[in-house]
Amino acid sequence: MKPIYIAIGANMSNPKKTLLNLSRVLAKRDIRVIAASSLWRNPAWPEGRGFPDFLNGVFQIEFNGCASELLHIFQDTETQLGRVKTARNAPRPLDLDIIDFRGEVRIDRDLELPHPRTNMRAFVLLPLAEIAPNWRHPISKLNALEALARLPLSAMETMQFETHMKPAD
Ligand code: ADP
Ligand code: MG
Repeated sequence: MKPIYIAIGANMSNPKKTLLNLSRVLAKRDIRVIAASSLWRNPAWPEGRGFPDFLNGVFQIEFNGCASELLHIFQDTETQLGRVKTARNAPRPLDLDIIDFRGEVRIDRDLELPHPRTNMRAFVLLPLAEIAPNWRHPISKLNALEALARLPLSAMETMQFETHMKPAD
Protein backbone atom coordinates (compact mmCIF):
# COMPACT_ATOMS: atom_id res chain seq x y z
CA MET A 1 0.00 0.00 0.00
CA LYS A 2 1.14 3.54 -0.74
CA PRO A 3 2.28 5.71 2.20
CA ILE A 4 0.33 8.34 4.14
CA TYR A 5 1.99 11.70 4.95
CA ILE A 6 0.64 14.25 7.41
CA ALA A 7 1.74 17.77 8.34
CA ILE A 8 1.91 18.80 11.98
CA GLY A 9 2.08 22.36 13.27
CA ALA A 10 1.57 24.45 16.40
CA ASN A 11 2.19 28.01 17.55
CA MET A 12 0.77 28.30 21.05
CA SER A 13 0.79 26.45 24.40
CA ASN A 14 4.31 25.00 24.18
CA PRO A 15 4.43 23.86 20.54
CA LYS A 16 7.70 21.95 20.94
CA LYS A 17 6.40 19.84 23.79
CA THR A 18 3.10 19.20 21.99
CA LEU A 19 4.75 18.10 18.76
CA LEU A 20 7.46 15.99 20.39
CA ASN A 21 4.75 14.19 22.37
CA LEU A 22 2.36 13.85 19.44
CA SER A 23 3.34 10.35 18.28
CA ARG A 24 2.34 9.05 21.72
CA VAL A 25 -1.02 10.82 21.52
CA LEU A 26 -1.65 9.45 18.01
CA ALA A 27 -0.67 5.92 19.08
CA LYS A 28 -3.72 5.89 21.37
CA ARG A 29 -5.86 6.31 18.24
CA ASP A 30 -4.12 3.48 16.37
CA ILE A 31 -1.97 5.81 14.30
CA ARG A 32 1.65 4.72 14.17
CA VAL A 33 4.38 7.19 13.22
CA ILE A 34 6.97 5.39 11.11
CA ALA A 35 9.09 8.36 9.96
CA ALA A 36 9.48 11.85 11.38
CA SER A 37 11.10 14.95 9.83
CA SER A 38 12.93 17.60 11.81
CA LEU A 39 10.88 20.38 13.40
CA TRP A 40 11.23 23.73 11.61
CA ARG A 41 10.51 27.18 13.03
CA ASN A 42 8.49 29.53 10.83
CA PRO A 43 7.15 33.02 11.37
CA ALA A 44 3.35 33.09 11.69
CA TRP A 45 1.49 34.50 8.73
CA PRO A 46 0.58 37.33 8.19
CA GLU A 47 3.83 38.72 9.52
CA GLY A 48 3.91 41.75 11.77
CA ARG A 49 0.82 40.72 13.73
CA GLY A 50 2.96 39.61 16.65
CA PHE A 51 1.68 36.01 16.61
CA PRO A 52 4.14 33.45 17.97
CA ASP A 53 6.31 31.44 15.51
CA PHE A 54 5.03 28.11 14.23
CA LEU A 55 6.86 24.84 14.60
CA ASN A 56 6.16 22.54 11.66
CA GLY A 57 7.05 19.03 10.59
CA VAL A 58 5.87 16.00 8.66
CA PHE A 59 5.17 12.40 9.69
CA GLN A 60 4.74 9.28 7.65
CA ILE A 61 2.12 7.20 9.43
CA GLU A 62 0.49 3.81 9.37
CA PHE A 63 -3.28 3.76 9.77
CA ASN A 64 -5.81 1.07 8.90
CA GLY A 65 -8.90 3.22 8.33
CA CYS A 66 -9.93 5.51 5.46
CA ALA A 67 -9.05 9.18 4.93
CA SER A 68 -12.29 10.55 6.45
CA GLU A 69 -11.75 8.46 9.58
CA LEU A 70 -8.26 9.90 9.85
CA LEU A 71 -9.60 13.46 9.44
CA HIS A 72 -12.11 12.87 12.27
CA ILE A 73 -9.38 11.63 14.58
CA PHE A 74 -7.31 14.70 13.69
CA GLN A 75 -10.21 17.08 14.41
CA ASP A 76 -10.82 15.30 17.74
CA THR A 77 -7.15 15.49 18.67
CA GLU A 78 -6.95 19.19 17.74
CA THR A 79 -9.96 19.93 19.94
CA GLN A 80 -8.60 17.78 22.77
CA LEU A 81 -5.40 19.82 22.72
CA GLY A 82 -7.36 23.02 23.11
CA ARG A 83 -7.86 24.27 19.59
CA VAL A 84 -10.76 26.67 19.35
CA LYS A 85 -12.06 27.59 15.91
CA THR A 86 -11.53 31.32 15.59
CA ALA A 87 -10.25 33.38 12.73
CA ARG A 88 -8.26 31.84 9.95
CA ASN A 89 -4.50 31.98 10.66
CA ALA A 90 -5.18 32.55 14.36
CA PRO A 91 -2.68 30.98 16.78
CA ARG A 92 -3.39 27.30 17.44
CA PRO A 93 -2.04 24.69 19.84
CA LEU A 94 -2.18 22.00 17.12
CA ASP A 95 -2.87 21.75 13.40
CA LEU A 96 -3.01 18.31 11.76
CA ASP A 97 -3.34 18.12 7.98
CA ILE A 98 -3.51 15.10 5.70
CA ILE A 99 -1.00 15.89 2.97
CA ASP A 100 -1.20 12.69 0.93
CA PHE A 101 -3.39 9.69 1.71
CA ARG A 102 -1.99 6.83 -0.40
CA GLY A 103 -2.12 8.97 -3.55
CA GLU A 104 -5.90 9.47 -3.26
CA VAL A 105 -7.35 12.46 -5.16
CA ARG A 106 -10.68 13.93 -4.01
CA ILE A 107 -12.37 17.28 -3.49
CA ASP A 108 -15.06 17.08 -0.83
CA ARG A 109 -16.49 19.90 1.22
CA ASP A 110 -14.48 19.00 4.33
CA LEU A 111 -11.67 16.93 2.85
CA GLU A 112 -9.42 17.64 -0.08
CA LEU A 113 -6.67 15.24 -1.11
CA PRO A 114 -3.84 15.77 -1.60
CA HIS A 115 -3.95 18.81 0.72
CA PRO A 116 -4.60 21.70 -1.70
CA ARG A 117 -1.85 23.95 -0.38
CA THR A 118 0.94 21.35 -0.30
CA ASN A 119 2.91 22.76 -3.23
CA MET A 120 2.66 26.33 -1.87
CA ARG A 121 3.99 25.64 1.61
CA ALA A 122 7.73 25.46 2.18
CA PHE A 123 6.99 24.43 5.77
CA VAL A 124 5.39 21.25 4.38
CA LEU A 125 7.71 20.62 1.41
CA LEU A 126 11.04 20.94 3.23
CA PRO A 127 10.21 18.42 6.00
CA LEU A 128 8.56 16.18 3.40
CA ALA A 129 11.79 16.22 1.37
CA GLU A 130 13.69 15.09 4.48
CA ILE A 131 11.70 11.90 4.98
CA ALA A 132 10.24 11.22 1.53
CA PRO A 133 12.76 12.04 -1.23
CA ASN A 134 10.94 9.66 -3.60
CA TRP A 135 7.43 11.02 -2.93
CA ARG A 136 5.65 12.66 -5.85
CA HIS A 137 2.63 14.95 -5.68
CA PRO A 138 -0.31 12.83 -6.91
CA ILE A 139 -1.49 15.54 -9.34
CA SER A 140 1.48 17.74 -10.29
CA LYS A 141 3.88 14.75 -10.11
CA LEU A 142 6.58 17.08 -8.72
CA ASN A 143 8.71 15.76 -5.87
CA ALA A 144 9.10 17.91 -2.76
CA LEU A 145 12.38 19.54 -3.82
CA GLU A 146 11.08 20.33 -7.31
CA ALA A 147 7.98 21.99 -5.79
CA LEU A 148 10.20 23.88 -3.30
CA ALA A 149 12.40 25.16 -6.15
CA ARG A 150 9.31 26.73 -7.73
CA LEU A 151 8.56 28.82 -4.64
CA PRO A 152 10.05 32.27 -4.07
CA LEU A 153 13.24 32.18 -2.03
CA SER A 154 11.46 34.23 0.65
CA ALA A 155 9.29 31.19 1.44
CA MET A 156 12.33 29.28 2.65
CA GLU A 157 14.77 31.83 3.97
CA THR A 158 12.70 32.46 7.10
CA MET A 159 12.68 28.75 8.09
CA GLN A 160 15.00 27.69 10.87
CA PHE A 161 15.95 24.23 12.05
CA GLU A 162 14.59 23.72 15.57
CA THR A 163 15.24 20.09 16.58
CA HIS A 164 15.26 16.51 15.37
CA MET A 165 12.24 14.31 16.05
CA LYS A 166 12.26 10.58 16.48
CA PRO A 167 9.16 8.55 15.58
CA ALA A 168 8.80 7.55 19.24
CA ASP A 169 9.64 10.97 20.76
P1 ADP B 1 -5.10 24.91 7.29
O1 ADP B 1 -4.74 23.59 7.92
O2 ADP B 1 -5.07 24.87 5.79
O3 ADP B 1 -4.35 26.05 7.86
P2 ADP B 1 -7.47 24.77 8.87
O4 ADP B 1 -6.73 23.79 9.73
O5 ADP B 1 -8.01 25.98 9.55
O6 ADP B 1 -6.61 25.22 7.65
O7 ADP B 1 -8.64 24.05 8.10
C1 ADP B 1 -9.38 23.10 8.73
C2 ADP B 1 -10.38 22.45 7.77
O8 ADP B 1 -9.76 22.04 6.55
C3 ADP B 1 -10.88 21.20 8.40
O9 ADP B 1 -12.08 21.45 9.05
C4 ADP B 1 -11.03 20.21 7.26
O10 ADP B 1 -12.39 19.90 7.04
C5 ADP B 1 -10.48 20.94 6.04
N1 ADP B 1 -9.60 20.09 5.22
C6 ADP B 1 -9.75 19.90 3.88
N2 ADP B 1 -8.81 19.08 3.40
C7 ADP B 1 -8.02 18.73 4.46
C8 ADP B 1 -6.88 17.88 4.59
N3 ADP B 1 -6.33 17.25 3.52
N4 ADP B 1 -6.33 17.75 5.82
C9 ADP B 1 -6.87 18.40 6.88
N5 ADP B 1 -7.94 19.22 6.82
C10 ADP B 1 -8.53 19.38 5.63
MG1 MG C 1 -5.54 22.11 9.29
